[in-house]
Amino acid sequence: MALHRKLASRSLQLAVNTNKCLSSLSRRSLTSSSPSFELPAFDYQPKPYNGPSADEVLAKRHKYLGSSLFYYYKKPLNIVEGKMQYLFDESGKRYLDAFAGIVTVSCGHCHPDIVDAITEQNKLLQHATTIYLHHAIADFAEALASKMPGNLKVVYFVNSGTEANELAMLMARLYSGNLGMVALRNAYHGGSAGTIGLTALNTWKYPIPQGEIHHVLNPNPYRGVFGSDASLYAQDVQDHIDHGTSGNVAGFIAETIQGVGGAVELAPGYLKLVYDIVRKAGGLCIADEVQTGFGRTGSHYWGFQTQDVIPDIVTMAKGIGNGLPLGAVVTTPEIANIMAQKIQFNTFGGNPVCSTGGLAVLRVLDKEKRQKHCADIGSHLIGRLRDLQTKHDIIGDVRGRGLMVGIELVTDKKDKTPAKAETAVLFEKLREHGVLVGKGGLHGNVFRIKPPMCFTKEDADFLVDVLDYLMTKL
Ligand code: PMP
Repeated sequence: MALHRKLASRSLQLAVNTNKCLSSLSRRSLTSSSPSFELPAFDYQPKPYNGPSADEVLAKRHKYLGSSLFYYYKKPLNIVEGKMQYLFDESGKRYLDAFAGIVTVSCGHCHPDIVDAITEQNKLLQHATTIYLHHAIADFAEALASKMPGNLKVVYFVNSGTEANELAMLMARLYSGNLGMVALRNAYHGGSAGTIGLTALNTWKYPIPQGEIHHVLNPNPYRGVFGSDASLYAQDVQDHIDHGTSGNVAGFIAETIQGVGGAVELAPGYLKLVYDIVRKAGGLCIADEVQTGFGRTGSHYWGFQTQDVIPDIVTMAKGIGNGLPLGAVVTTPEIANIMAQKIQFNTFGGNPVCSTGGLAVLRVLDKEKRQKHCADIGSHLIGRLRDLQTKHDIIGDVRGRGLMVGIELVTDKKDKTPAKAETAVLFEKLREHGVLVGKGGLHGNVFRIKPPMCFTKEDADFLVDVLDYLMTKL
């Protein structure tokens, strides 16, 4: 172990020195055979790492953790430190985090304002119960409610996206008195027994049939059977309600841009039509903002606003806590009343540390004007990726909004045959060049780009330059 530590700290020093040398060269210095790309300059040196190696961690994981716990890359990364939009591995190598741990990090890794706020609160009190008063949960609820449109003013705190969607589904069923839920194919709403049912059967999760879940056609403008025609997809919802639920439903749930499904935007106008249909059938409309909320889409603070609707219930998690285990459900006072008829309790939901952290996140996003930043950098990134699309036939679709972007790769632009193998190769190569992206979509052929919101124009250019080079070489 002592030898390992020495080696690790020597390679860290080497990496730091190399970084220093490279910063005096141009951002992209070409050698005769292979260009070497340099990440945008970043004035931060990771701390020396003395912990176990990637191989040791992996061996322990195999021994003590369930085999369902999958990891990215053939040789998985051992990430030991994070700072804003960058991550560092055990050797001190820096990576551009264009995925932010599946958008859990909104403001940036270890953002100092948030770290300070939760550290101070941790020193004072972490008593996870709402049976006594504490100002943090009330302050945070007030701040969150102020970000919501319409009468969405009552907040429930939970610990994850799954829990938020479970609670939303419970509310819809209690309020409507109906059981049936309508969800989109290719959706992801969580990993619990209930939300797995909402999550499209036979795609991501186990084929366990859940009571009265109707999976309707995915209004995917690129791959969907009706292209961008929202009315035809909405008719499918009506058909399910008429023939599958005897005319009544508890609710409808959809991500406003599908995340795990591959950054899929819904056909324009879809939510407006479907919300009408669902409300007429007695159901509530739930917007899953677990990935899309807090200004990430740039044009709007919430994804549902891009479709000009106001849901009855909004669920959120991930970015809300910049990495803290935190989720929330926001609804109207009328719907919230239904929950007051029985005990509604969540031990850790809204605990002082997470609430303090969540409030700090909202403040940072406002202070640093992150929504506008997402709009600016996102349109630059999407513009450059669309240019790349004209150059490389493998890019079938570039889509998304703000800093929630998908690149779908195909081997044939007309037939849209998923370029699964090529995606896998590029994915590994991107990592070698210091770029971490997500991989998703039904066929595993979509790069998902959802960086921390402090991602810069230089980061976007770096990512596109590397991708361009790798696609040229492919
Ligand atoms: N909803 C969406 C849109 C998600 O992307 C996820 C997680 N990927 C969830 C819900 C579940 O969140 P969690 O993993 O925090 O339970």
